Amino acid sequence: MTNREDYVSNSDWKKFLEFSKDFETPNIVINLRTVKKNYIKLKDSFPYARIYYAMKANPGEPILRMLAEEGSNFDIASRYELDQILTLKVPPDRLSYGNTIKKAVDIKYFYSKGVRMFATDSKEDLKNIAKYAPGSRVYVRILLESSVTADWPLSRKFGCHPDMAYDLLVLARDMGLTPYGISFHVGSQQRDIGQWNDAIAKTKYLFTSLEEEEDIKLTMINMGGGFPSFYVEPTNDLKEYASEITRYLHDDFGDDIPEIILEPGRSLVGDSGILTTEVVLISRKNNTALCRWVYCDAGKFNGLIETLDESIKYPIVTEKDKPSCREGEVIIAGPTCDSMDIMYETDKYRLPTDLKTGDRLYWLTTGAYTSTYASVGFNGFPPLKTYYME
Ligand SMILES: *Cc1c(COP(=O)(O)O)cnc(C)c1O
Repeated sequence: MTNREDYVSNSDWKKFLEFSKDFETPNIVINLRTVKKNYIKLKDSFPYARIYYAMKANPGEPILRMLAEEGSNFDIASRYELDQILTLKVPPDRLSYGNTIKKAVDIKYFYSKGVRMFATDSKEDLKNIAKYAPGSRVYVRILLESSVTADWPLSRKFGCHPDMAYDLLVLARDMGLTPYGISFHVGSQQRDIGQWNDAIAKTKYLFTSLEEEEDIKLTMINMGGGFPSFYVEPTNDLKEYASEITRYLHDDFGDDIPEIILEPGRSLVGDSGILTTEVVLISRKNNTALCRWVYCDAGKFNGLIETLDESIKYPIVTEKDKPSCREGEVIIAGPTCDSMDIMYETDKYRLPTDLKTGDRLYWLTTGAYTSTYASVGFNGFPPLKTYYME
């Protein structure tokens, strides 16, 4: 059984139950104070860094508004995200177009709105930036092979080999752009802090060789996201990440560390969310089966897509949890008519044996990559409704 108190304090839990008791399920409640606390903790842990919130993790307007007021910058991946953030009056010099996969017309659009900071990892994209966003600052994303220790890897699709990053930055200068720095992402929910060490070492090599051989002085490292939220699998505390990563930076750059940017998504919003589902049905597949199937009113298509390959293991608590209650193995699945709509089958969760249809299951740490990471109406089921608790 999940010990709820490891994740949500008694007072926050009481407040949450009171706040959400009349909401139809499924729904997500976001605790905005938790997001703010996480933001402040990250800032305090990396006092020398600037934070660009990766808004794809949760683009809820109250979250964006609060972070904007706190002084956060934003990592933007599409023109739609850009439009959303601009309506909140965030000035364009606090935005970065961090997606390396973009159309020429979108580069033009970002430029017309005042954005002057672009990520890239290919020649074609870089040429488009030079043409449609002349003079802008560009940083090149390098490829890392660190997928095994991240619960949700982001490698392969993004980044290029450091040798190619070198060439792109030379080309950027030759095309009139400002070579700004290097970025990387070690993979989301990265449990191995050492991955930042390798990435920083590669970055240092590029800084040195570009300066020595091409007289290009890079000034920025974008260390991406990857910082943890609290799921079933334990991680180190953020303070541990910060002290180790800071040490790696000093090991490679001495006292003269470049401008540092962080792009947290998950770690700011993950543990601010509780997804409430109702049990639709409990059944067994044969008369003597010990394992029950528990079907909920939310699944892979409306909020729980990160259970794909059982990658993210959310802590789950139920209305029936009691210190001494009997539990049994379950397979947990969603409500749609697609047989991939099963959240946990290989990894057997254990839930109380007296769990009944109509009971609530609370999925903790569901503030990141849930509310908008959903189908718009598969089988007619709408995306999750989100509520914000102050
Ligand atoms: C998704 C993403 C992030 C956020 O990563 P988390 O692991 O959620 O913190 C940061 N930077 C880029 C470029 C991303 O695509």
